[in-house]
Amino acid sequence: MKLALHWKIIIGLILGLMYGLLSAYMGWGDFTTEFVAPFGIIFINLLKLIAVPLVLGSLVTGVASLSDVHKLSRIGGKTIGIYIVTTAVAVTVGLLVVNSLKPGESVPVEVRQKLEAAYAQDVTSKTQAAEEAKERGLLQPIVDMVPDNIFSSASSNRNMLQIVFFAIFFGIGLIQIPEKSAKPLLAVFEALNDAVIKMVDIIMLMAPIGVFALLADTINTISKGNLAQVFELLSALGFYSIAVTFGLLLHMSVTYPLILKFFTPMKLKTFMRGIGPAQLVAFSTSSSGATLPVTMERCEKNLGVSEEVSSFVLPLGATINMDGTALYQAIAAVFIAQTLGMGLDIGAQLTIILTAVLASIGTAAVPGAGIIMLVIILEAVNVPSAGIALILGVDRILDMFRTVINVTGDATVAITVAATEGQLGEPDFSDE
Ligand code: ASP
Repeated sequence: MKLALHWKIIIGLILGLMYGLLSAYMGWGDFTTEFVAPFGIIFINLLKLIAVPLVLGSLVTGVASLSDVHKLSRIGGKTIGIYIVTTAVAVTVGLLVVNSLKPGESVPVEVRQKLEAAYAQDVTSKTQAAEEAKERGLLQPIVDMVPDNIFSSASSNRNMLQIVFFAIFFGIGLIQIPEKSAKPLLAVFEALNDAVIKMVDIIMLMAPIGVFALLADTINTISKGNLAQVFELLSALGFYSIAVTFGLLLHMSVTYPLILKFFTPMKLKTFMRGIGPAQLVAFSTSSSGATLPVTMERCEKNLGVSEEVSSFVLPLGATINMDGTALYQAIAAVFIAQTLGMGLDIGAQLTIILTAVLASIGTAAVPGAGIIMLVIILEAVNVPSAGIALILGVDRILDMFRTVINVTGDATVAITVAATEGQLGEPDFSDE
């Protein structure tokens, strides 16, 4: 019997988890770093490697196939609108959860002091990074979207929005010239696109091993050879971690199914089957940027989203739409305030909604970026940013969960936009 891809990845994930725990317990840390971790790095690198050509190829072809450029601005407006609304809902869910469960009120003073002392140094580097992010002007993100050199943009995956901008602009140029001259170049981009999609298939063959190695290495790094300490941390911050995961689960099992039910013909089961492998890759890489090629492939090939919609909505979403991150930032901010014995009135909670939506847009699609932007939210509500020391210990673990939601949110919006634009085809799982 041929095992479906997501089962193979789940097996890799579970084995990676078991091996990681065993390795931490047995003290095989160095061996794991030297001989297991590299396979995870290779897997992530392969995914990152194809992200730029994939977005470029599929977006140029997508835009060039548009019969009418106005449609693009309509799709653009709709996409950004839904992204902001879903993120605001996510933050609200987070606030409801943290205000009703009040995880911060049960943290004993000695645990608080211990955490503050243990993570004081890490706090400095995070607050410095946040300071740099804050110093950039209000319009800077828009300026950053417009590159002055396409080759330098293509040299870093962090510049994904610049690639998106260039591809759209270039695609528009391509439709404006006579078909005869556009055709050869378009054929190049189409071939590039097809070839890169095949490369995604090949990379995914390695996913179970990659996921195994990533999980083993993450546990190895978190435990730093002392597994007991991880369990101690998890139990000290257990209630907080439960609140975050519960909030994320709530958003995933209520908000997204409702959106799919009311705006699309897609069955939840089909959606989950289609997006499952991308969620698993998101969980093990903790990076929605690295997961982007998988998200795009699953949405286009398996869930029936047209290339035109997926190639625009998903790269944009990977960069600016982070429901999981925003929800977590809301819970973390209130948790820190609760632990420090500070009450947050309704005005402060509204500020959190606003700043968390903005902060999540500014969060990079890489591991651990969410906690840097959290500093800005804390400052906005006058909670000492050193408070992030309280949650740093479990942040790497929660990052895995919130990245899954980030990716699921992008896919939900891609399907919604496709459905409302009449560009959602039949799901197809014949390749599994
Ligand atoms: N790791 C997250 C992502 O890439 C961002 C975060 O740290 O919240 O989606």
